[in-house]
This record gives sequence, C-alpha cells and structure tokens, in this order.
Amino acid sequence: MNKADFPILNETVHGRPLVYLDNAATSQKPQQVLDAIVEAYSRWNSNIHRGVHHLSQVATSKHEGARQAVADFINARSADEIVFTKGTTDSLNALAFSFGEAFIHEGDEIIVSGLEHHSNIVPWQMLCERKKAVLRHIPLQDDLSLNIEAFKGLLNEKTKLVSVAHVSNVLGTIQPVEEIIRLSHERGIPVCIDGAQSVPHMKVDVEVLDCDFLVFSGHKLYGPTGIGVLYGKREWLEKLPPHEGGGEMINHVRWEGTTYNELPYKFEAGTPNFVGSYALQKAIEYIESIGWEAIEAHERELTEYCEKQLKDVGCTVYSAGCKKAGVISFNMGTVHPFDVGTLLDQQGVAVRTGHHCAEPLIDEMGVPGTVRVSFGLYNDKEDVDRFIEALKKAQMMLM
Ligand code: PMP
Repeated sequence: MNKADFPILNETVHGRPLVYLDNAATSQKPQQVLDAIVEAYSRWNSNIHRGVHHLSQVATSKHEGARQAVADFINARSADEIVFTKGTTDSLNALAFSFGEAFIHEGDEIIVSGLEHHSNIVPWQMLCERKKAVLRHIPLQDDLSLNIEAFKGLLNEKTKLVSVAHVSNVLGTIQPVEEIIRLSHERGIPVCIDGAQSVPHMKVDVEVLDCDFLVFSGHKLYGPTGIGVLYGKREWLEKLPPHEGGGEMINHVRWEGTTYNELPYKFEAGTPNFVGSYALQKAIEYIESIGWEAIEAHERELTEYCEKQLKDVGCTVYSAGCKKAGVISFNMGTVHPFDVGTLLDQQGVAVRTGHHCAEPLIDEMGVPGTVRVSFGLYNDKEDVDRFIEALKKAQMMLM
C-alpha cells in the first residue's frame, strides 16, 4: 500500500505527523482522485446530456463511463441499475420515499436491525409516520450479533422491505446478510443492503449477494464527497416512481402532466455530480489496481494486530475476535470516550468518539459512547504503534 499516494497523510497535526484512523467517517483521497477533479474542471467542465457541443459530449461520456465502472465494480447486470446520489443517506432517503410511495400502506411493516446507522433508521421512521406503517428491528443477542431466530419471527405477510447494514459502523462486525436475504426472499420480500462500511473494505458483488438494493458513499471509498450510489435491480427500479422532480428526470413536460425519463435518469433530477462520478471512477480504479485480496488481507492483519494491543493495554474491545471490516470500537475503563479522543488528537492521532450515529446500538451496549479506530488501505502497523503509544500516554493522564 502506498501512503505516498495520499498527500494529506503528510500533514502534521498539533506538531505531530498525522495518524489518520477515522476512515469509517471518511477516507482520504489518492492523488489520482485529486487530479481527476482538477482535470474535470480545467479541461471538460460542461453540463451533461443536454449539450450538442463538444465539451458537453465529453462530460456526458465521462459521467456515463463512471456509471459503467460502478456497475462493473459491484457486478450489476447493467449500468441502468446504477443511480448516482449524494451519498448513502441520500440513497436511503430516495429509496424510502420512492419505495414508500409505491408499496407501503397502512399497517405494512419494514424491518431494519438493532445496529443500524441513523441513516438506515430515520428515513424509514419518517416513511412509517407518513404511511401509518410499522418499523420493526432485528434484536441483538448479548454478544451484539443479530438474533436471526428473532428475525425469522418478525417476517410475516405484512413485511414489505428489509434494510440492513452489511458492516456495523460502530463494531465493524460483518453481518450475515446472505442469510437475511435468503430468508426474506423465501417470502418474496426485497432487501436493501447499506454498504457504506462494506463496499470500501471488501468485494461486494450484488449478483452473489442477490440483494435488491445496495447503497454506499463515494467519500468513504477514497472518492470525493457529494457522490454516492443507489443500486437497484432493474425490475424494482422500473416499478418505483421518481423521488424528486426537475430537469433530466423527465421525458416530456406538458401542463396536463409529465412523463418520466427511462432508467436511471428518472431518479437523477437536476444537474448530476458529473465531476464526482468521474473522480469516484478513479477511486475505484485505484482500489482495483491494488486488488481486493491484498486490501482485505492487509486490513484484517491490521485489525487483529490493533485489537490484540488494545486488549494488552487493558481496554474493553467490543465484539472482540469477530470477523470485522477495518473498524474497532473500545473503551478505556470508565473514562469518557471524548476525553480519550481529545488526548489522542493532541498527539496527532485522529479517531472518532461518541455514538457514531447509532444511538439505539450504543444504548443497548449501555455505554455513553465508544472510541472508534477505523482503517483504510494506507494505514500500517506503524500507525497502530503510534496510536497505542499515544493511548498509553492518555491512560497515564486519565486513569
Ligand atoms: N450507513 C452507515 C453504516 C454509515 O457508516 C454511514 C456513515 N457513517 C452512513 C450510512 C451515512 O453515510 P453518508 O454520511 O455518507 O451519507
């Protein structure tokens, strides 16, 4: 892995070289992605789809090329199944609104899990309020894994959709989504996978998973902010109405009414983020140039190495020993996570503290929050060593 590709990693923070361990919140960008943004604005910036002129055609082909690159990346059957959004949250809100308009009626049920990010809770709560539907959640077992037996009991003829995180953004644990999808499909219920924390860490193949929807963010995937993806199987996307109106998403607009564009454009009202999509493609190419096998092995090794050291210094590591995707949550005795994070920051180590936008899970864990370290492909053992060294100093001051 080449740290030198990521200019920001040369920064110093409070006079110390930066150790960036907040990748689950957002990842840093390789030079290739930064160059793509400069290239787009300095060489072919122009609004897409509508223009007959040269620059517009170049910009259009870049945006559509990026759509195909994303489709190939997650092994979608066609680029038409890729809707560009602003990010995971935007994708989930779009889906909740659109799916809700078409398929949710009073008394219907939607199932999420007990460890979701707020982005995969609140849009469904809003939908349920609008439609007088009911939001259920898969309960957790004592070890914070999903209770699949209880999930089986939740599925019934009123269940219209299941939406679950592939990887917990708090615990890093990989969820049994294959089983959830199989059990749901046995009853003809579609499943949305929140891939915000899985797509940056492992090969996610929508054909193998057989999920009906997959959502993720570009900025956690070494790409830019403001671009994300809503993948949907064509047969579902075709049945869903647009969630926003405006330019681009229409076929014809008359005072009598409007007809909508074909897939995927009916879900992309307004000028799309064509610079973001192009830069996201460069991020995907960067990942592929390294390869998933190497990335997964590297991050697994780092996670295990870090977890062991955290335990050695007496920290409580949550879901220790479970299969994880680059994220570890811990606490240092009863010290408030915020205090730990602040002392680490003073030593140049960036971690996240708090509830990580997953309050129901944190409540269930019975803690005020956790300290979370999360790895990217550029992190190395030296980063872990610097982090543990800083943690020991914090321990001396706080305990
Ligand atoms: N779901 C999960 C599991 C996440 O980790 C995050 C980001 N922390 C989101 C959804 C929301 O992503 P974004 O803020 O990029 O929309």
